[in-house]
This record gives sequence, structure tokens and C-alpha cells, in this order.
Amino acid sequence: MKKRAIFLDRDGTVTKEIGYINHVDNLELIPDTGRAIKLINDSKFLAILTTNQAGVARGYFTEKLVIQAMKVLDHLLIRYGAKLDAKYYCPHHPEVGPPEYRVNCNCRKPKPGMILDAAEKFDIDISTSYMIGDRSNDIEFGHNLGMKTVLVLTGYGKGEYEYQRDSWIVKPDFIARDLYEAIEWILQNDKNN
Ligand SMILES: [Mg+2]
Ligand SMILES: [Zn+2]
Repeated sequence: MKKRAIFLDRDGTVTKEIGYINHVDNLELIPDTGRAIKLINDSKFLAILTTNQAGVARGYFTEKLVIQAMKVLDHLLIRYGAKLDAKYYCPHHPEVGPPEYRVNCNCRKPKPGMILDAAEKFDIDISTSYMIGDRSNDIEFGHNLGMKTVLVLTGYGKGEYEYQRDSWIVKPDFIARDLYEAIEWILQNDKNN
């Protein structure tokens, strides 16, 4: 039987949104995130991170730093007995940066590449999986792949909700205060359990 996943955005959803995380010391969990991801780990879902990191293409930080930041994130989560089953990032930007990063790639959200890669690797049924993020492009990203989506009001979420919601192309299935509430909602309302 195919697996199912809860896909998570990183900045503003799992970790505090501070613009660009250009040093690992700036990486900080949003409160209750460790407990939230532990809820996923204790369920049937995989927890998979998908993050755009165009700061690499822009020259704000290196790809090596993105990888280091992911390791720091793992350590922060271990304190809660929580773990991410996989982490995907897109270092590209279609218009800026050196040639290896100035790519009109298929992995920059809302394009589907990161989720298609994960689905192939872990044998995931995308249509019964979920996407959680703090920006409307996270919601489009999930919706385009046929997933249910949750917008969190952390990170850019609150501003997106208060000032942008009339112009959203796609509406989220649920709007949650934070990741913990988002995951609680998914686990309580999921019809395929
Ligand atoms: Mg975000
Ligand atoms: Zn990419």
C-alpha cells in the first residue's frame, strides 16, 4: 500500500520567518513545532519538508549552509523526539544568480518537482497527502498536485490572510493558528484513516 505524507514548508511554518536564514544560529523553531512534528511521526503520515531557498541563487548564502541548517533543524527536533522523514530544497531562481542556479527548474514551488521526487522515492499517494505552509504559493503548490492544504497564521500567514485573501487563486482547506493546530486538524478530519 502506498504511503501518505504531510508536506511542510520550512520558513514561517516550521522555523521562524526572518527573511533569509544566512547563518545556522538564526534558525529557531516556532513554538510547539517539535510537538507538532511528533504528532505526524506517531501517525501513519510521513513528515516531509519542502522549501524554496533562492537565497542560494541570489548569493546570500551557499548551498552548504542550507544543508547545515537542515542538520541543525534535525537537532532541534530531536529534543522533542520528532524527526523529518525527508527534506527537499530548491536553491534555484529563474532570473538571478550564476548559471548553475539561474535555472527555470521544476522544483521551485509552486512547481511540483520536490513532491514528485518524494512521491517516487517513498511511494507516496499524493492525492491523499497534505501540504502545510504560510504563503499562498504553498497552497497553490499543494492544490496543483491535488492535495488538501492548510495555511498557518505563523510566518507570512497572518498577513496573507488579513490583506491578501481576496486575491488568492486557491483557498486553503483549513486555516490554522500554527503547525500544531494544522496537524491536529488533519489527523482529526482525515477521511482516509
Ligand atoms: Mg514559508
Ligand atoms: Zn529548483
